[in-house]
Amino acid sequence: MVHIESLIIEATRQCALNCAHCLRGDSEARSFSAFGKLEKFLKQGVSIDSLIFSGGEPFLVPEVLLHIINIMLKYETHVSQIYIATSGVIPNSTIHLQNIILTLHKMLELLKVDGLDILYESDAPSLLIELSNSEYHAESREQLNLKIEPLLALISKKDSRTYKESSLIPIGRAEYLGMRHDKYDAILKSCEKGIEINIDDEEDEVNIPEMYITFDGRCFPECDLSYDMMDDADAYEFKVYTLDEITKIIKKDLRKRNKV
Ligand code: SF4
Repeated sequence: MVHIESLIIEATRQCALNCAHCLRGDSEARSFSAFGKLEKFLKQGVSIDSLIFSGGEPFLVPEVLLHIINIMLKYETHVSQIYIATSGVIPNSTIHLQNIILTLHKMLELLKVDGLDILYESDAPSLLIELSNSEYHAESREQLNLKIEPLLALISKKDSRTYKESSLIPIGRAEYLGMRHDKYDAILKSCEKGIEINIDDEEDEVNIPEMYITFDGRCFPECDLSYDMMDDADAYEFKVYTLDEITKIIKKDLRKRNKV
């Protein structure tokens, strides 16, 4: 069994907003497409404490979220919590409300695989939609009109977050706003080391603390990366695995242990 504490999936690089504090950078017309690789990886038997859909704006591509959730249902991936970071703003031209509702229902179905009750009163909600109320998002939202908060409020708890300028990381569009150089240095260090894959012989388990999967199936140990950093990984000397490589490493280890 493979156990991942925090699995973050880059659902899309599209986003209708243009927030000044965005550590990703400018929106790109790329969305998650590594379904086959993800399927091979999940086929091994995977449990996830926290599954996070990140972006860009994940709700611009509900069909991507739905596809991933369906793969997880197929392989009975155990998921304890799903978390979606959204601006809550989807432009009229691209909204697929029915698909969003269907996706959210499927997510609840996936969480039931783990036998968890989805209760609004629960201290630890299993499906959590984060809506940021930062000043940066507010500025960026101004010209856009259709919000999904009312819909989400019906079926999920919502959380919100504010940003302090001093906590911004100087990358992406926040390059000139950012203050957290210590955090930036820590990101570089962890990406140089690459994904941590720990073998626990006693528990017969492979443990991965954190894994960020990009739209095309590259894996980083960090989610706080700009698009430029991900795409110039060689220049930064980051150790990057593909999902296929991680699958092979794990399979090789399991084969080795079965022989002993
Ligand atoms: S911070 Fe989020 S909502 Fe704002 S531009 Fe970046 S990805 Fe889009």
